[in-house]
Amino acid sequence: MKKQATILGAGLVGSLLTIHLAKRGYKVEIHERRPDMRKENIPAGRSINLAMSDRGWRGLERVGLRKDIESIAIPMKGRMIHVLDGSTNLQPYGKEGQAIYAVSRGVLNSALMNLAEQQDDVTVYFNERCVGVDLQKHMLHFENPRSDSYSEKSYDLLFGADGAFSSLRHSMQFLDRYNYSQSYIDHGYKELLMPADDDGNHKMFKNALHIWPRGNFMLIALPNLDGTFTCTLFFPFEGDVSFGKLKTEDEVTKFFNEYFPDVIQLMPTYLEDFFQNPTGSLVTVKCFPWQVNGNACLIGDAAHAIVPFFGQGMNAGFEDCTVLSELIDDHGDDWKTILPMFEVMRKQNADAIAELALNNFIEMRDLVADPHFLNKKKIEKMIAQKYPDRYISPYQMVSFSHIPYAEALQNGRRINQLLEELTQEPGLETKFDSEEIQSKVHSILFTS
Ligand SMILES: Cc1cc2nc3c(=O)[nH]c(=O)nc-3n(C[C@H](O)[C@H](O)[C@H](O)COP(=O)(O)OP(=O)(O)OC[C@H]3O[C@@H](n4cnc5c(N)ncnc54)[C@H](O)[C@@H]3O)c2cc1C
Repeated sequence: MKKQATILGAGLVGSLLTIHLAKRGYKVEIHERRPDMRKENIPAGRSINLAMSDRGWRGLERVGLRKDIESIAIPMKGRMIHVLDGSTNLQPYGKEGQAIYAVSRGVLNSALMNLAEQQDDVTVYFNERCVGVDLQKHMLHFENPRSDSYSEKSYDLLFGADGAFSSLRHSMQFLDRYNYSQSYIDHGYKELLMPADDDGNHKMFKNALHIWPRGNFMLIALPNLDGTFTCTLFFPFEGDVSFGKLKTEDEVTKFFNEYFPDVIQLMPTYLEDFFQNPTGSLVTVKCFPWQVNGNACLIGDAAHAIVPFFGQGMNAGFEDCTVLSELIDDHGDDWKTILPMFEVMRKQNADAIAELALNNFIEMRDLVADPHFLNKKKIEKMIAQKYPDRYISPYQMVSFSHIPYAEALQNGRRINQLLEELTQEPGLETKFDSEEIQSKVHSILFTS
């Protein structure tokens, strides 16, 4: 009998996991709530493109998809800050040659689904919404809204890759002593389109992630291959300046004129987009355990949904697949060993990236234009230039390395403490090479 696995959700992580398992000889069935996205239009206004960084690339590399996706990804070398007076400055993300990449969610998901279906013994069932899992009897319950039918199936090995509102996790929540929390931030998001110019080219520098930091809120823009940018407004739901206060066209026009005067001429449909596109909310989900009895396990957003400000949700989900795959290398099909190891290894890192992502919101919307933050960045640059082989910034650890997120969080805290201390040193630039300053730097860089 062939080994069998069932996966809930044919999103980014479910599709990638399917490829991993099918390549190891598993017969895989995926059940996806939505229709086939390759045949039907994806609704507008829901994170159309994503930033891919090293952890995501490694996940794709293991299944041989990296080159295909790289050829349709746009490198973003840094963040382009748009100040209210219209001036801009580019802050590189890393060293020369390092970049994060803008990738279309639809294209990436379709490519993963295609590759999954090309494997032996993979079947994807669309319009099959899991509505409950019986963890004792190993039974799945589905509802099919198209045929208005209901079905049941048994499973041997089950993965819930069904996103932030996972049905598998929901069923796990009924278990004794199950830990679960979800917390929404006060901000939501709205996507707006910046079309290409008349020649089909990007209207702004395409190799950057653009940010208009405006204190309590911000607009960002990521480039698409067709010359457009997807712009996302992260904005409070309530308050003096909030979605709640922008009800009429006049109010929205006045708001954009006041805070984003340089962008509105580049976004001729911003008013229509604002009123037609949905307002998304942003949630952090934490839970534990992630697995039950060594045969049912959460993965990706189902286990650890995070806010998008570090651009790491998908990257973290792809890293889950890499770690799982490495555990299979070591333990074969011994899932009763693999799954408990997987949840322990990943949980601390998932919690760490959840915290890093929340912190990065404050950095992006507020501090990128703040003199104290810019001073810290300047000092960081001095350290990086003096110790090019030793110093890795917290951003680089997360985006350009495979250092576990938990370690990146710890290192980031220590570096931040050092930078804070150094900002208090009068005339730092002239005495940077002094023994006093260098011993402080060494105490962080040369001890772990
Ligand atoms: C605005 C925004 C911007 C983002 N930007 C980035 C970024 O730049 N970089 C990055 O790395 N991440 C980003 N993310 C996070 C990223 O989108 C998620 O981490 C990623 O999509 C998680 O993949 P997943 O497969 O685990 O879940 P999902 O992508 O949510 O896929 C889950 C799948 O399961 C299906 N499903 C759901 N319920 C059921 C059910 N009951 N039965 C069957 N199927 C079901 C869904 O239809 C879906 O296909 C962003 C998120 C948002 C909201």
